[in-house]
Parts: sequence; C-alpha cells; structure tokens
Amino acid sequence: MNASTGKLSPLKWLKSREAEMTQLLGQFVLAESPSLKKSSVDRFGKIVAREWRHRDAKVKILAQRERGDHIRAEWNPRGNRSKRQVLVLGHMDTVYEQKALARMPFRISKGRAYGPGAFDMKGGLVIALFAVDALAATGAMPEKRIVFLWTSDEEIGSGSSQAVIEREARRSDAVLVLEPAQGLDGRLKTGRKALGEIEIIATGRAAHAGLNPEDGINAIEEIALQIARVSRWNQPRRGITVNAGVIEGGTRTNVIPEHARVIIDVRAARATDMRALERKFHALRPLLHGAKLEIRGGFTRPPLERKTAAALYAKARTLAKEMGIELGEAFVGGGSDGNFTAALGVPTLDGLGAVGEGAHSPNENILIRALPERAALLASLLSSI
Ligand SMILES: [Zn+2]
Repeated sequence: MNASTGKLSPLKWLKSREAEMTQLLGQFVLAESPSLKKSSVDRFGKIVAREWRHRDAKVKILAQRERGDHIRAEWNPRGNRSKRQVLVLGHMDTVYEQKALARMPFRISKGRAYGPGAFDMKGGLVIALFAVDALAATGAMPEKRIVFLWTSDEEIGSGSSQAVIEREARRSDAVLVLEPAQGLDGRLKTGRKALGEIEIIATGRAAHAGLNPEDGINAIEEIALQIARVSRWNQPRRGITVNAGVIEGGTRTNVIPEHARVIIDVRAARATDMRALERKFHALRPLLHGAKLEIRGGFTRPPLERKTAAALYAKARTLAKEMGIELGEAFVGGGSDGNFTAALGVPTLDGLGAVGEGAHSPNENILIRALPERAALLASLLSSI
C-alpha cells in the first residue's frame, strides 16, 4: 500500500504475482500451437478465451476454415459507450512443429523460463492478462474500451487475420503490439522494415549438353545472372536488403536446363524504397538471348516507420521512468502485424511483450523477473492513452 494515496501501484501488485504469471506461461507453452495445425491452435485458443472470460471480457471467437480461429476479447470495465478504442495485438501461433516440447520442454532455470513460444509470444499473452488484473486490483481503470485481438497465423504471414487486424486498427486511437522486446534490456520496437518475397522464374530451351549445346538456352545461367544483378541492389545502411534464399533448376548434368527459379527475400526501411524496389524487380528483362523471365510476388508487409511510433514511445518511456525503469528503443528488420496497423497511419508501438532471447530457436526463453515490469508498463499505458 502506498500510505499517502491508499492505492497499491500496479507494479507492486504485479511483483507479488510473479509466480502465478510464470505458472500461466507454463500452461500456455504446454498447449502447443504450430501455425499450420488448426486443431492445436484452436485448443490453445480455448484456454486463452477462458482466461479472458474469467476477467469479464466479452469474448468472440472469429472462426476460420483453414487456419486457427482468432479471438477478440473486449474489455470495457467502466461500461463506456464511447467509440474510443485501444487495440492490443498478439498472436497465439508459434513457429515450432507439434511435439517440439519433447526436445525443448517447458522448464525454469536461473530466473528464466524456456519452451516453444515462451518468448514469441506466449509471454506477451500472459502479460496482457495480468495487466488487466493489475488495473482491476488497483482501480486504475482505462477511459477507453480495450480490444485484445489474438490471431492464429502471424508466423506464416497473417493471411487470414490481416483484414480483421486492419478493421480493428481503423477504429482505434492506438495499437499496442505484444511481440517480444528487443535485447535483454527490453527495448521497444519503434521501427520495422517492410518485407516481401519475389520469385524470378526463367525459361530457356532444353538441349543435349554434348550433341547440340548451341541449340540450348541455359535457364540456370539466366537465373545466376539475375541474382548477380539484384544483389547489387542491397543497401544495408539505407535498410534495403535483397537475399536470394531458395534456388531451383535443372534436371541432369548433361541437359541444358530449360527451367530455373529463385525466391528472394526483400526488405526496406522506407515505404518509398519498398515501392521503388518492387518496380525494379518487375522491370527485370532477360540477359541471355532467347530466355524468358516471369516475376511474381512483392512486398507483403509495409514498413513500420518511426513517426507512427514516436509519440507512444515517448509516453511509454515516461511511464517506465516513473516506475524506475529505463526504456530504450530499437529498429528491427523483422516484420509483425504492427506493420499493417502502422501503414494505416494508426499510432503503433511494438515490442511491448516479454523480455528474453532466442526467438524461433531451441533456446527460446524469457526473463521471469521482467514479467511484472512489462505487465505494469502495459497497464499504465492502457490507463493513460
Ligand atoms: Zn511473434
């Protein structure tokens, strides 16, 4: 209790709940939820939905045919009729296959909790639930209606959730994304690159490599020349990267290959660079006489530019400072659903989730002692936006 006001601070309250937070994280990690396994994601979704119903949220299951169902939990403790809304975003799916738990079980060691999805981002889901508990326990109720949207397919590009995310974001004054923080000092993500995939398909002409090579047009050679050309478009300092990640072509060594293709990962820090790069790819022409080229794909996530995050970040920094926490920021190359909401011009702050290491790796883990701090930060943001 704070003697002067008679009110308990959310951080203090949350620190006394650290063990419960860790226990809930364990439950969440044990309910494996690989993006491509609908039945598993749905099973985990039921657990998440139940937690939100316990907190008197209005829970809606947004049923999906192929992907896992999304969950929309509306929390409006003051019963506000106001149209004003804040959106909290997270995903329930993980990059791991079913039974990954067998080789990376949920475990606690030296102040960290390990397991598939603990960091990316089941820790974030736990933080949201306890942030709400802390607000209820300390009476610091938000002015606005809070919508928590938990999606099922972020790790595979958000094909079934993008439209829902954008619809909710358009109604919201701010979007808070519970993706993992950057670094063990818990930096927030105030910028993310745009990203996409571009496929270059080359068609040449098959011929015998020994009998009539002059009749052939080598599709592999065409692709190799194209890769050499597009790799010169890399400008890492400007935030532009072009990476030939998958290549395929040819049948036998004594055949001049008719078909070859490459899939290229493209990223850009600025929307203008994203559009220019896409245009350059689609303007590629064959380099070998007689070869044909087809270009497919493009950017799938626009960039999260810092200007969309700046005001929220400043607010978060101030709130953290009041709790004695020094917060930093980071610009990262990876995308998230925050890219979609920022592209709509809705203020978006990302990386508010767990603090840890090793996302998408067998070593994935979170710092347990940061759980209460992150939940307190989210709670104070929710009651001050
Ligand atoms: Zn994630």
